[in-house]
Amino acid sequence: MSHRCAILAAMVSMDTLVSLCKRRGFVFQSSEIYGGTGSCWDYGPLGVELKGNIKRVWWRDFVQRRPDMVGIDASILMHPMVWKASGHLDHFTDPMVDCRECKLRFRADQVDALPWTHYCPATKGNKFTIPAGEPCGHCGARRTLCPDCGKGELTTPRQFNLMFKTFMGPVEEDAAVTYLRPETAQAMFVNFENVLQSMRLKLPFGIAQTGRSFRNEITPGNFIFRTREFEQMEIEYFVNPHDRVEGRPADEYWHDRWIEDCLAWFRRYGLRDENLRLREHERDELSHYSKRTVDIDYRFPIGWSELMGIANRTDFDLKQHAKASGKSLSYFDEERKEHVVPYVVEPAAGVDRALLAFLADAYLEEEVRGEKRIVLRFHPELAPVKVAVLPLLKKREDIVRTAHAIRDDLARHWRAVYDDTAAIGRLYRRQDEVGTPYCVTVDVQTVGDTDKGERADGKVTIRDRDSMEQIRVPESRLGAVFGELLGGQSWADVAARVGRA
Ligand code: ATP
Repeated sequence: MSHRCAILAAMVSMDTLVSLCKRRGFVFQSSEIYGGTGSCWDYGPLGVELKGNIKRVWWRDFVQRRPDMVGIDASILMHPMVWKASGHLDHFTDPMVDCRECKLRFRADQVDALPWTHYCPATKGNKFTIPAGEPCGHCGARRTLCPDCGKGELTTPRQFNLMFKTFMGPVEEDAAVTYLRPETAQAMFVNFENVLQSMRLKLPFGIAQTGRSFRNEITPGNFIFRTREFEQMEIEYFVNPHDRVEGRPADEYWHDRWIEDCLAWFRRYGLRDENLRLREHERDELSHYSKRTVDIDYRFPIGWSELMGIANRTDFDLKQHAKASGKSLSYFDEERKEHVVPYVVEPAAGVDRALLAFLADAYLEEEVRGEKRIVLRFHPELAPVKVAVLPLLKKREDIVRTAHAIRDDLARHWRAVYDDTAAIGRLYRRQDEVGTPYCVTVDVQTVGDTDKGERADGKVTIRDRDSMEQIRVPESRLGAVFGELLGGQSWADVAARVGRA
């Protein structure tokens, strides 16, 4: 584009995102007026829309549009036996070490991934911060002490269970102990029989759920990447382990299909190829239930990290719950006349991590006519606001009235806002910065000027966020044009048909 001079920043820093999120109402620190709650975040007016859109589109694409999927919405508090049977009580732990000096706590397997503080004996004890994993450039020592204070010894690792414990009912006694769920998955297993019978399903089929999960993470942080309370979008896809598809065991075939489908989903809604990669779990890294796990990693501002995981959980969970509950959790294979315990493939994504990835990938700083423009190039389906209606002159009552009426009309179908709190250039920039794909401007030509004898043409300007091009369309056609633009047609196609302004 001729008006676009240069891309100023290709990769955004976490600090920039955190500050944009606060300034523009996406994410606030939880309980900020009391100094904040460690690793908890609140979604603001735009964040709640963005998050809602991610969940809605995920649910639509993976549940509503597929003939082989159904959903549930289970309670967060479950019978404590669930966590015994699933192995979470015994295995859902991380190794933890404490600093004997400053008392800070670290995940033992992550200490070496932190930059470390060093008081170097070769330089009279001068203090240095040394990059993660590297030795001191002066004395050659490697880290042995606390990476933060650089003085205390670390304790030997202890296993720490990540589940939040609580009490059901008014008495705080052992018999009343229960847990906040650390994953949504288990509700799909314990409801397997209910769903199978009520919906009369045939294998392969999947059960999906979105909802909150809780993990008492030892080292939460990096904004909404790792928090103690977060939201998940999970699918348990049950397959007959005796079936073969395209010459392969059904569970292995479906595992690969889900990896492809999930990757394609993230690409479709805006994550760039170069920021996505697959990572196969090593044997010694696999969870206790897994035959094979593949992560989709994203190049977050903190580096390559897990966006979601897709695990083959075999028949582990159904068998464990059958054993612990005494109920049969199997499927009757009509053709083979046999009962089988299905295998399950689990695509498990975090809503908050997905939101962070979509934000980071959408962020762009560019120079336009000598000025910096910050733009979030969200996919229109994800954008928190779809259309902003802006009056060119806020003192003209007829312009303001028309703009309000247009907003009200569009808002019947899409999230639309009205804004007249600044001059038009600044209003455009504000909408760019929150990723609104289209602005509609009402000007003097739209409503006419009787003093000057100018007749109203009833047309308004639509401006495209990414190209900054404009088209002029009759007000009466706005609904149809946005139906096309927000229904998946490209700006270039629609603009070519309607005619650029
Ligand atoms: P990690 O290795 O990062 O701790 P995990 O492998 O334990 O994650 P899973 O149990 O596979 O995570 O959970 C599925 C998804 O849920 C993750 O890919 C991530 O998107 C999300 N998730 C897990 N833990 C957290 C957390 N503490 N904060 C935010 N999202 C999380």
